[in-house]
Amino acid sequence: MFLKNKKLNKSLKIKIISRIIILLVVLFVIIDIIFALSFRQESIGEAKIRSKTIAKVVRDGLTSLMVMGVIQNRKIFIQRLKRASKQVDIQDISIIRGNSVNKQFGPGFKSEKPTTADEKYVLASGKKLEKLDETFNSVRYRVIIPYKATSTGVVDCLICHKVKSGTVLGAISLTMNLTSVRVATFWTIVQTSIIFLAFLIILVLAFFKFLSPYISLFQKIESGLENLKDGEMDAALIDEKGLPEDEAGKVAKTLNETSKSLKEILSDINSKVSTLIGYTVLKTDNYLKDTIKIINELVRIYNFKRVIEKDRTKKDIIKRIESIIRDYMCFENYAIYEVGDNNKMSILAVGSKINLGKDDMWCDRSSLEDADACRAKRTGGDVDSVNFPCICPNFKFNVPEEDESGTGKTCNEKYNYYCVPIYIGGKVGMVLQLIFDSDVADFVHWMIPYIKGYLAEASPVIESRKLMELLKEQSIVDQLTGLYNRRYLDDSSENIVAGIKRRGTNLGILMLDIDHFKEVNDKYGHDNGDIVLKSVAKHIRKSIRSSDIAIRFGGEEFIALLIDIRQGEGLEIAEKIRKAVESSPLEIPGGVVLKKTISIGVCEFPADTEKFWQAVKYADVAMYEAKENGRNKVARFTKDMWKDEEY
Ligand code: GH3
Ligand code: MG
Ligand code: MG
Repeated sequence: MFLKNKKLNKSLKIKIISRIIILLVVLFVIIDIIFALSFRQESIGEAKIRSKTIAKVVRDGLTSLMVMGVIQNRKIFIQRLKRASKQVDIQDISIIRGNSVNKQFGPGFKSEKPTTADEKYVLASGKKLEKLDETFNSVRYRVIIPYKATSTGVVDCLICHKVKSGTVLGAISLTMNLTSVRVATFWTIVQTSIIFLAFLIILVLAFFKFLSPYISLFQKIESGLENLKDGEMDAALIDEKGLPEDEAGKVAKTLNETSKSLKEILSDINSKVSTLIGYTVLKTDNYLKDTIKIINELVRIYNFKRVIEKDRTKKDIIKRIESIIRDYMCFENYAIYEVGDNNKMSILAVGSKINLGKDDMWCDRSSLEDADACRAKRTGGDVDSVNFPCICPNFKFNVPEEDESGTGKTCNEKYNYYCVPIYIGGKVGMVLQLIFDSDVADFVHWMIPYIKGYLAEASPVIESRKLMELLKEQSIVDQLTGLYNRRYLDDSSENIVAGIKRRGTNLGILMLDIDHFKEVNDKYGHDNGDIVLKSVAKHIRKSIRSSDIAIRFGGEEFIALLIDIRQGEGLEIAEKIRKAVESSPLEIPGGVVLKKTISIGVCEFPADTEKFWQAVKYADVAMYEAKENGRNKVARFTKDMWKDEEY
């Protein structure tokens, strides 16, 4: 960044300086051209005036010589004039005689004859002719001025010259050397250039000295704003040392204050959101991106919580966590365990890319029997095999392998594990296990806080669902025997009947009643009566299939619903139960052995009636028949047992 700034700084300086120099040089060249042109104009103008004056002097001189009658001596005058003229850059002067003069006074000197076409032209036309010969080395101004006869001047020409007024009497040809003027102009330009150059150097130096700090400050402000825009508040700060004490310095200080307060605000948001979600995201130097990241995390967690709060069962929430672990965080190998009230563990969810065998578990079965075999459950802390290889002896793939040196043992690199205890109601209620390759160990460690964020949100919701499920279970289960209660039958009979009808099968309905049960209560007390009830319930449960339903219908009466039986099979099962109770004397505290029996009424649905509750009644009727027949009997319902038309 610093290097980049320096470069930028330099290029900007060069840009500004070069532009100023170009501007000044162009200005200077224009001024020089104007200067040279005006100098040229001036020198030509001055040459014109000089030539006019000389022409006048020559004319008046010649006139004087003529008036004095010594015109024949004019050569001396001309020679003197020539000599004097040399000092004022006049290279050549010649006097040309016109035809009228030749005619009147005869031909003059040879030198007075017109030689060039220009001279002849001036004599013929009477018009002044001037020419400027400019070459690389020299500048010459040539002018030929005609003398015309006039009677209006100081001297009347027509007194001596027998010509008409306006006749061309002669001409003067002058050649002036203006080279020295040009050279002088050139040197003037050279001198001013040197002065200008010196001025330019001083200007550039002054610029460097005066503007340099502003340019570099400007660059710093620019890169500071760039960093601010990117959220890199620390990099946006400008070194306040040596800042100019003017508006520019104030701008830099304001920028610093803005960066600092923005950083404070974003850090504050970050830490507040971190407290809210219970963890912090990986921090970079970019406060803006960090804030966006953590806010996104908050939104995700909030959405997750909103969704799971609408989930009705614990199972649904577990599925949701599983989907986050598997689909969102891309773990293929994982497991979620639940710790039961009996300190046994059960598996709620498993993900695996490999065949885990019959148990479909990542751990030994030992933890299923004793939850404390699970280190995460027992310690209540994270279990990380990356930092502590082989930390949990109950991990199934924890088979130590010889390492390369052959000296020690090392764990299977392919199956690292990280187990997170999930606290529910103040104790470890679940354990999340992640299994991963060592290649992604860093990624997993990085993900753990995020995962814990989700688990922390899910845990109270799971707790409430568990409680609800427990309450619901308690409301349909008889607490003494563990069988379903009458309420369950009321709630579920419709579903059971629908299933039987759909499959076109039979439902056996057994009504069971303990014989002379009142005696037990009366003789041995209510508690022993309860023991008998529990024992009978156990015999019923054991004698029927797990898909069958055992219900404590009330007091010492039970119903067994036998799902999908053959016709007549109800009687066989009833007999099996009766025998089981009869042949199982029960020892109660005090060493008393009770021999209890039960009477069972059997009815089959829909064979006996298509109305379920009528079938229950028929079973009850049959049960009374069994009682009447001497108890410890099984009676199959027959039509003759029911006299009423409708139930
Ligand atoms: P039967 O052979 O005609 O069926 O005679 P029984 O004595 O079994 O019949 P009865 O209906 O006269 O008595 C049922 C008794 O069951 C009455 C009641 O005290 C007892 N009882 C009902 N519920 C419970 C219970 O939860 N625990 C205990 N210990 N006794 C119960
Ligand atoms: Mg009874
Ligand atoms: Mg009874």
